[in-house]
Amino acid sequence: MRALLQFTLDLFDPPAPAPTRTPQQQQPDQPATPLADVLSRVSFIHPRASREVVLGNARVAYEFTRGKRRTIGFVVGAEGLSVRAPRWVALRDVDAAVVEKSSWILRKLSETQQRQDRLEATRIDWKDGVSFPFLGQQVTVQLDPHHAFDGVGAVLDATANDGPPTLRLALANNATPAQIRDAAQAWLMRQAKRIFIERLDHFAPRLGVRWKKLSLSNAATRWGSASADGGIRLHWRLVHFRMSVIDYVVAHELSHLRVMDHSPRFWETVESVVPDYELLRRQLKDEAVPRW
Ligand SMILES: [Zn+2]
Repeated sequence: MRALLQFTLDLFDPPAPAPTRTPQQQQPDQPATPLADVLSRVSFIHPRASREVVLGNARVAYEFTRGKRRTIGFVVGAEGLSVRAPRWVALRDVDAAVVEKSSWILRKLSETQQRQDRLEATRIDWKDGVSFPFLGQQVTVQLDPHHAFDGVGAVLDATANDGPPTLRLALANNATPAQIRDAAQAWLMRQAKRIFIERLDHFAPRLGVRWKKLSLSNAATRWGSASADGGIRLHWRLVHFRMSVIDYVVAHELSHLRVMDHSPRFWETVESVVPDYELLRRQLKDEAVPRW
């Protein structure tokens, strides 16, 4: 169990040195706080948790459901750990399976939490001078109440100075954060539509498929989807990423018009037009995009 404890502490990068004793073995002159801090920090509580287990130094409260299935299934999502078990499996066997799977569970929970923390750190504070990534490059927002934008409301000025490109929004200097965010989002969604159509038209003939309709999505958990009738849905916030990452998602969804599952044949199809798709796929997963 000590190896597991060490492993978890490493993941959480505690400010205090990793404790090597249990609280009972502590010397009286040692303050108990560092360990207590670490213990209180490492807990993963699923909002619909109904069971709880201690894995190493981590308290894991998980969602537990039973269903028609043959094995015990584990899923770590943004909300935490979910465990599904067949109806006939005893609870103590479920607990044993969770313990057996603990290093994988703790690793996934830590990774997910770190990703959430990164997302939280990138929440945009909408005001004059704020910046956000567009096609992998920082764009700075500038309120420009005097500019006429021909009804569009925003213009990207890449040549204004030597610094980062500026997105000039036709808003008064006392615009509220919500107004600034909405204007920036409207601009980004227009860019998204333009860019996605261009890339769909680029990849579709190369894959020998035809797409019929593009919808911009705002789904919480997926970047894109494809339906058999040729409809493609892409998340508008993909335009935060650089073009090669967008290309991967576009090629991925178009490839589904040929292969509807994620079989080896599907990935071969993706690879035929985006050879480094694995790298791009990982970037899409790991890179934090700003919160709106
Ligand atoms: Zn897919």
